[in-house]
Amino acid sequence: MTVVTTLPDHRLLLVHAHPDDESIGTGSTMAHYAATGAHVTLVTCTLGEEGEIHVPELAQLAAAEADQLGGFRIGELAAACAALGVADHRFLGGAGRYRDSGMMGLATNEHPRAFWQADLDTAAGHLVEIMREVRPQVLITYDPNGFYGHPDHIQAHRVAMRAVELAAVEGIAPAKVYWTAMPRSVLEAGLSHFTDSSDNPFDGIESIEDLPFGTPDPEIAARIDATEHHAAKEAAMRAHGTQIPATSWLYSIAGNFGAEFMGVEYFTLAVGEKGPGSGPYGWEDDLFAGIGIGLDDDGSGRAPVSAAGVR
Ligand SMILES: [Zn+2]
Repeated sequence: MTVVTTLPDHRLLLVHAHPDDESIGTGSTMAHYAATGAHVTLVTCTLGEEGEIHVPELAQLAAAEADQLGGFRIGELAAACAALGVADHRFLGGAGRYRDSGMMGLATNEHPRAFWQADLDTAAGHLVEIMREVRPQVLITYDPNGFYGHPDHIQAHRVAMRAVELAAVEGIAPAKVYWTAMPRSVLEAGLSHFTDSSDNPFDGIESIEDLPFGTPDPEIAARIDATEHHAAKEAAMRAHGTQIPATSWLYSIAGNFGAEFMGVEYFTLAVGEKGPGSGPYGWEDDLFAGIGIGLDDDGSGRAPVSAAGVR
């Protein structure tokens, strides 16, 4: 029997490592596409059990004590998704299947449930199941370095890319895969701005070459201007109160640079054809550009999607 469900005709899947990564890295993009009626699915790979706790009265939830942070962060993530207008959020393999591996080289990397130890095809299989159901045309994850080198971010990249390969065998691979990115020009502007600041997130950094991220501008494929959703992104970040203290430089930088710092996000294109864009490097302003999904012709905004994987 073929079960046919209806989903919006633009479907975006994001694969992130820990609760809070979705908001910090892609919150405005998620809010933007959710607001335009796209189906946005967030898959978070771990509960973030090893996170540092910035709320003193919750300090005993830490991994080394009550080990309750992961469960607590499920609630933070739900509140963040509500702020972003994203209803479909899931944990890879179900909540608690994979554990936060902690920073590279720590003993937590060796935990039997650590995401870093996950069997790649098994973990990718969980993601393919979600792809069969949601049939995303666009997938967002990290680059091979996990944007900044955290083992769970590197593993999220590997799992997502393996899932794309497995989905291609079934003919259901997304048309485009993007990796989160930060253009060098934006980092340079930030670096020079903070050089004289007492609250300098780049303290000790002489040049952007010293940072673990930063993409030459010509290699950026898409610039998503979701400035109108900057407040939703900030609200989503504040929902992750155990992780992002209210005094974080992320909020002061936002105050200094204004809505653009929160509201504009950048991506490189790893799989698929770049669509039409603008500016000196032809940056797309829409992740669905060029993949031939017309705006809803019948005005319903919905197209049939077969849960059995038949278009
Ligand atoms: Zn993370």
